[in-house]
Amino acid sequence: MNQKQTVLTILGATGSIGENTLDVVAQHPERFRVYALTAHRQVDKLAELCERFVPAYAVVADETAARSLRARLQAASVATEVLFGAEALCAVASSTEVDAVMAAIVGAAGLLPAMAAAKAAKTIYLANKETLVVGGAWFMEAVHQHGARLLPIDSEHNAIFQSLPRNYAGDLDAAGVASLILTASGGPFLHTELRDFAGITPTQAVKHPNWRMGHKISIDSATMMNKGLELIEARWLFNAPATRMEVLIHPQSVVHSMVRYQDGSVLAQMGTPDMRIPIAYCLGLPERMTSGAAPLDFAALSGLTFAKPDFRRFPCLKLAYDVLMADAPAASCVLNAANEVAVAAFLAKRIGFTDIAALVDAALQRHGSAQVDQIESVLDLDEQVRATAQVWVRNHHRILPD
Ligand code: NAD
Ligand code: MG
Repeated sequence: MNQKQTVLTILGATGSIGENTLDVVAQHPERFRVYALTAHRQVDKLAELCERFVPAYAVVADETAARSLRARLQAASVATEVLFGAEALCAVASSTEVDAVMAAIVGAAGLLPAMAAAKAAKTIYLANKETLVVGGAWFMEAVHQHGARLLPIDSEHNAIFQSLPRNYAGDLDAAGVASLILTASGGPFLHTELRDFAGITPTQAVKHPNWRMGHKISIDSATMMNKGLELIEARWLFNAPATRMEVLIHPQSVVHSMVRYQDGSVLAQMGTPDMRIPIAYCLGLPERMTSGAAPLDFAALSGLTFAKPDFRRFPCLKLAYDVLMADAPAASCVLNAANEVAVAAFLAKRIGFTDIAALVDAALQRHGSAQVDQIESVLDLDEQVRATAQVWVRNHHRILPD
């Protein structure tokens, strides 16, 4: 094969998606070259990755982390140049030397670099769903206006993308699609007694039954806020209204999502729960390439089950549904910002598990009808919500079990 190498920037390289991406890249060294790797403050891990992949640039959060990374790389004689800060993230995401960007930072912090990649007409492999939840209208506008190519990494959206016609252009009716069906594992508390929810600890909540992921998305999966964020993500990716999307609990995580067509056909994408599958799909397009994932052994499956989610068990999913129905960009930003603060506070044992939904609800009531007309006002709102959410956390702080 005499292909041009794809030059990659990997934002959030030290995270779960970042590591899986580099694993796929390492399996196909002839196809990819790494231009930049970024991390927040995980200097040791990033130094190891730089030694292995020798990118031209590495980006970290601040000067202290940059200094320590530089020292590590110098000692190992690695020629990678170290940069820091939000502008540097945007620079490596939009450099003319880069073909494609893996957007795998967690949280709203991923929005501006993803936006920079869109404005520079890059191929964007989008894992960072918060980009679309916080700034979906503006991000999609930038993608269309600048001719960027947007490919979904999130397993559900990747499954839907694979099950839609190849030339799908954002019109469900024209494609003969009745609805999109997002599957959800239901997380670790699918069968927990409702009265026990208040006592759930971070250690219990990060233990996802099927997927190994970063802490934030693991908590989001336990509250099912993750599925709510994913509905909003799908709304933007596929131009699908709330009325044309369904959520089904499917604890085995084998069917990654489905497309229901108007003729009664349902197309699904299946596989083992391994993020290297959607990553390899996007990186390999238009070809299929190996991902390293184990093949799905149908004979070993004990059964595939599907059920409707229960909003009493998962109030965060209900809050997200309401936001999606309202189709208001401000509410979507508020939902995300309050949730980020709530999840961090829960992980730090400052609030309880059930406080996550309570805090998000309070934030939506307070800020949900704010007016936003441009991305700058969205970012201002994001900051305001975080500030009032922190006050909420202080006011609700209590002693929690280990
Ligand atoms: P993670 O916590 O494992 O990794 C996050 C990465 O982002 C790390 O490299 C970290 O250093 C970096 N980072 C964190 N905060 C940052 C900041 N403020 N500025 C710059 N960089 C920062 O997270 P993950 O599980 O890999 O998830 C990444 C994104 O992909 C999330 O948006 C998540 O919802 C989405 N996603 C993840 C999975 C999965 O299987 N892990 C699946 C679908 C979607
Ligand atoms: Mg997902």
